[in-house]
Amino acid sequence: MSTETTRIHCSIDLEAPGRRAGWLEVRHSNNRHAYGVIPVPIACIGNGRGPTALVTAGNHGDEHEGKIIARRLIRELDPERVSGRLIVMPALNYPAVVEDTRVSPIDGGNMNRAYPGDAGGTPTFAIAHWVETVLMPMCDAALDLHSGGKMSEYLPCAYLVMGGNRDLMAAKIDAVRAFGAPVTAVVSSTADPRSLSGAADRHGVVNLATELGGGGTVGLDALEVGEAGTRRWLAHVGVLKSDLAPPAAPTRFLRTRDRRDFVAAPMDGLFEPRVRLGDEVKAGDLAAIVHPADDPEREAAEARFSADGVVVCRRVPARAIRGDYLFHVGEPVDEAALRASVGPA
Ligand SMILES: [Zn+2]
Repeated sequence: MSTETTRIHCSIDLEAPGRRAGWLEVRHSNNRHAYGVIPVPIACIGNGRGPTALVTAGNHGDEHEGKIIARRLIRELDPERVSGRLIVMPALNYPAVVEDTRVSPIDGGNMNRAYPGDAGGTPTFAIAHWVETVLMPMCDAALDLHSGGKMSEYLPCAYLVMGGNRDLMAAKIDAVRAFGAPVTAVVSSTADPRSLSGAADRHGVVNLATELGGGGTVGLDALEVGEAGTRRWLAHVGVLKSDLAPPAAPTRFLRTRDRRDFVAAPMDGLFEPRVRLGDEVKAGDLAAIVHPADDPEREAAEARFSADGVVVCRRVPARAIRGDYLFHVGEPVDEAALRASVGPA
């Protein structure tokens, strides 16, 4: 990890009580910015002693539900109901949020593949470095609000990354139970240490994420899952006094194992989905038909599932090229088996 000190200045005092909002001043001198700063929004609500919770959205710039949830927290939470501190970053990769793109238009940086970052690097990596070295050491719990973005649509779900030691994993499972989404997607081998979850794991911060819909729009069902879940989670971690009812039913865990759970386009063409989000499928079932756009005499190609599971996520755009992601599935797993599968403390 870089031992260099951050060059980013935070315009607000994260230690003072009460509510305040400002920005990280990320200096980046190019044709557009010259001597200006990239103002990455940040807000803090503090009230006395207690844990520190972090809520982030806009990690990918084209994922919208989380940005709305984060804004509402900043504007509507009564500081008197907070114990400890809530830090909210509603547009983490701000240049990507401004352009409505997944990754930064300035440096092509994917904010969820940028940790531990680089103090002297381009904006995405400099922001990641500030989060990893300045912000994470302050935090006890972190919630990173994602959606599918323009390219993908998820069953609205919490997202649990299997990482960290046994105690941390147990606390993460407790956190997703409290969040109470109808479904929790679980990933292990597909998890990436360069993600925000990886940064949180390295600092022992109890973290979870979400995948709230997607498609580049705002889904009302996804928004409701995310808003209620976020408030239940804030109460669970001890930062918010909340009278929200617990979830109606326990979350259903769907674990994505490896690349077998993914379906890719076998050729260029028009993607015709043959299943819906939430469908139960078997290995060998038809997932999609890809129609060539050129010669009407040419055969369409079938794409089939190679593992049993529940359809968790689908591609949104109809045009696909060979190798494009079309679907992935998750294997239902019960909570006891999940808890038993985690490593040593
Ligand atoms: Zn994302």
